[in-house]
This record gives sequence, C-alpha cells and structure tokens, in this order.
Amino acid sequence: MSTILDKATVAVKPELCKGCGLCIVACPVDVLSFHEHFNTKGYHYAMYMGDGCTGCGICYYACPEPEAIVVWKKGARVPEGFQVREYEASGVLPLEEAEA
Ligand code: SF4
Ligand code: SF4
Repeated sequence: MSTILDKATVAVKPELCKGCGLCIVACPVDVLSFHEHFNTKGYHYAMYMGDGCTGCGICYYACPEPEAIVVWKKGARVPEGFQVREYEASGVLPLEEAEA
C-alpha cells in the first residue's frame, strides 16, 4: 500500500551528511538548519525544521554528498505510514525509490 503526500518534504540522512552547510545556505525558504547533535563522524548534520519545504530541490543539487538529501514533492507516492523521521533513521530508501 502507498499514500500520496499532501505537501512537499525533505530528509537529511545524518550519517551521510558532512555538515558543510551548503543546503542550509541554498534553501530559499530557510527551512533547514544544523542539528544540535553530532553524527558518528563528528559533524553537526543538517536537518529539516519540519515545515515549509516547497519541494524545489535546490538543497538536493547543492549537496556534494550523494544520497544525503532526499526531497519529496507534493503528490509523491510513498509507502503507507511513511514518516520522514523514520526514513532518516533507517538508512533505507522507500520502496518506490529502491525499485526505481
Ligand atoms: S526542497 Fe527547496 S524548500 Fe525544501 S528544503 Fe530543499 S531547498 Fe528548501
Ligand atoms: S549540503 Fe549535504 S553534506 Fe552539506 S550540510 Fe547539507 S546535507 Fe550535509
């Protein structure tokens, strides 16, 4: 089963982030910031503040780390019960993306 997102959202994988801040600077609506915690490599990783992402994708293209950021546009099809926080923690791509 899958569901359709009613608004755009974005996720940063903490362990893939090098804390460069490029996505934070690039976001035109300022909805990304550094997390207060460090990842296991010692970087303050970027995080979504939870509201206001437009799905523009600029952060994705600004990030030098492959797969550190994933953006879902409004209307994207995601697994039933999909939660961004769980996605960030799992390190596993949603089913539809894994099969693409
Ligand atoms: S997709 Fe656009 S609005 Fe959303 S966090 Fe990235 S840069 Fe900001
Ligand atoms: S641009 Fe990528 S590596 Fe740099 S802070 Fe953002 S998510 Fe992390």
